[in-house]
Amino acid sequence: MNKIAFSEILKDKKAVFFDMDGVLYDSMGAHADAWNNAFRFYGIDFPQERVYENEGRTAQSTINLVYRQNEERDATETEINQIYSKKTELIEFLPDVVPFEGAKKLMEYLKQQGIAIWVVTGSSQDKFLDALLNDFEGYVSSERVISGNHVKHGKPNPEPYLLALKKSGFNSDEVIVIENAPLGIQSARAAGIFTVAINTGILDDSILWDSGADWVFKDWNELKAEI
Ligand code: MG
Repeated sequence: MNKIAFSEILKDKKAVFFDMDGVLYDSMGAHADAWNNAFRFYGIDFPQERVYENEGRTAQSTINLVYRQNEERDATETEINQIYSKKTELIEFLPDVVPFEGAKKLMEYLKQQGIAIWVVTGSSQDKFLDALLNDFEGYVSSERVISGNHVKHGKPNPEPYLLALKKSGFNSDEVIVIENAPLGIQSARAAGIFTVAINTGILDDSILWDSGADWVFKDWNELKAEI
């Protein structure tokens, strides 16, 4: 595919919708570890690569998916609560996640051009949502965050990105999405939005292209070099 300049992608755009985990934060390793160990605690195998493939699902959807594949049934309410509590507990022990340096640089670049910044995340944990407002103070405000608390279906359903369009008042062609995960890319594309992927995880670039990404940067450095 011919190279598209990032400045060309942003031309005439009014907003960028950022995913959070794996785009703004180098946090997916921590989440993958916590999921992997939470399932293992209950005797269920959920390898790291599967965590990355399913990134962006709500916690309930993730747990049900694993039960369907391992036990051929949905998880019970109790099982969902147990595993999710364990995951939340385990993530507390992991080192604090830090923002990607490129993410701040890009936000400053957007701010200077008057391009609005929104965050659309499946996360609903206060710890991370509070950190987001602190770490990106001056760029991200709470009324421009769509979290897991605002949606019923979550990614890969287009609901989160459609809600961001509705709340922001922008048309789909006035916005781009920046995502890192296959299901997030599918969600954004299903909402009709041009989607740039940054591959910050362990999956092959081809998986991001195959999920429908309009452009894939192989890491933050590659994008940062253009701003
Ligand atoms: Mg992500």
